[in-house]
Amino acid sequence: MFAVGLAGLLVCPQAVEDRLVGQRAELVGIEELRRGCGRCEDCRWVAAGTHPDLHLIYRQLNREHPDADVRKRKALDLGVDVLRHFVIERVGLTPIRGRCKLFIIREADRMNPHAQNALLKTLEEPPGHTIIILLATAPDLLLPTTLSRCQRVRFDPLPTAFVQERLRSRYPDLSAEQAAWYARIGEGSIGRAGQAVEDEWYERSRRLGARLAELASSRPSDLVQCWIEESKSLGQQYAERDEDITDTEATRRALKALLQLTAAWYDETLRRMTGLATDADSGSSAHGLGGGWECDRPIAAIDRIAEAEGQLDLNVNTQLCLEALVNDLAASARGDAVAA
Ligand SMILES: [Zn+2]
Repeated sequence: MFAVGLAGLLVCPQAVEDRLVGQRAELVGIEELRRGCGRCEDCRWVAAGTHPDLHLIYRQLNREHPDADVRKRKALDLGVDVLRHFVIERVGLTPIRGRCKLFIIREADRMNPHAQNALLKTLEEPPGHTIIILLATAPDLLLPTTLSRCQRVRFDPLPTAFVQERLRSRYPDLSAEQAAWYARIGEGSIGRAGQAVEDEWYERSRRLGARLAELASSRPSDLVQCWIEESKSLGQQYAERDEDITDTEATRRALKALLQLTAAWYDETLRRMTGLATDADSGSSAHGLGGGWECDRPIAAIDRIAEAEGQLDLNVNTQLCLEALVNDLAASARGDAVAA
């Protein structure tokens, strides 16, 4: 969002000053904002992703590469062919609209070393009026030579209230309670929270919560079944969104997301026990836990879930991993000590 906003500001011939007032200024922490006008041709093209001087670079661009061999490849990382053809060969061209040229490289931390080395010279001496933005969630995966040629801009988590407000304007159908829930689960990222909305995490979390609440008295296999079913439908959505991940990888990611949701349910429980939950949270239930639950139980459960998440990364047998986890969570719900 920031990169595209910056692009709008730079290509718009009539950029405007916004004075932020009241709650907006408080939430964002600034009072003045310079941005593209949002109405001119340049701004409209930026918003639509079709501005001729704005180049969006991403893994799957290999499908538009002139070389058939490159087109056939799975875009597991951001390869040298994509960078050569779509970035390095184009930075030297004159901007079509005359103001500046921008390259936004998504998932830059997935550039392989070969690609990064090819890009070094361009990063070091980009032609005038050229701006290259590397977006990375794990910048430390980039080579030191790449990092040393970039100015690093860190994005801290946004205030939850701000994310909540943005979610409500983007998804008018969300209730206040749902928006608050998604804002928390997004951990300060509008993008992550929005993705969770699209993937219907709230509904999934309610279904999971119903199973978790009756864990002490139900068959543990019911919860395993619930995880497997939810991960199938979620994994399908992941696979549709990114054709380049394998089905196994999509299912693994979906399972990890569900474990994260499970941990979030224990987190909600904990917040309610400690009185941190606000009125907006009150729709979700933590029935069935009994009044005797002490704070260390949900904390231990969250730790145990994190352990299982780590195991899924190590290619353990998924079914066994989930069964062991459920047994421990059920034992905890019954009041036995959680196995370490
Ligand atoms: Zn404009």
